[in-house]
Amino acid sequence: ELTVETLTTWMNDFEAKIAAKKAYLSDLDTPIGDGDHGNNMARGMRAVTEALATKNPADLTTGLKLVAMSLISKVGGAAGPLYGTAFLEMAKKSNTTAELSELLEAAVLGIKQRGGAELGDKTMVDVWEVVVPEHAAGQLTSEKIAQAVEATKELVAKRGRASYLGERSVGHLDPGAVSSGYLFEALLETEG
Ligand code: ADP
Ligand code: MG
Ligand code: MG
Repeated sequence: ELTVETLTTWMNDFEAKIAAKKAYLSDLDTPIGDGDHGNNMARGMRAVTEALATKNPADLTTGLKLVAMSLISKVGGAAGPLYGTAFLEMAKKSNTTAELSELLEAAVLGIKQRGGAELGDKTMVDVWEVVVPEHAAGQLTSEKIAQAVEATKELVAKRGRASYLGERSVGHLDPGAVSSGYLFEALLETEG
């Protein structure tokens, strides 16, 4: 069960991880992208935590919408609308359930529909699609998150800027997969 309180804890933890890894995430985006992923995510997550703190949303749906809108308006790039869509789909789903696994399933479908990426395309989908079923089964661990992130290294990018490099994208981690790994690490910590 996700509540607006646990959502806030989760987002504050994610923001801290992103802020700590801002330079690293932008460095990962340099050889296979335009070097801005850490800056994009740090700007967006600062906006998310500020919005949650100042607007103090009364319920989960309002909180998830606020997260989505902050990400869409502040992250920019490809990642902004994709993370934004994930939280917007969670917001919609939260009208009928607060079960986190169901919310996350809606989020994955939203990301895939919005960006057109499938498993193996070397994007954030490679983390979301592996991690979400593990979470639903109560089997998610840090090791499984790390494995999903690491698996993007050997893949050829099929979506996003990295796809312009084709085979030359092999040997590099996908930055959006790495930031998504932090999102799920933060979730594990929130769930304690
Ligand atoms: P931009 O590439 O516009 O500068 P970012 O650098 O912030 O945006 O984000 C890049 C990340 O976005 C990639 O590492 C990848 O994980 C993700 N991404 C890009 N395009 C897609 C897509 N079509 N579907 C899913 N994820 C994508
Ligand atoms: Mg980029
Ligand atoms: Mg960019």
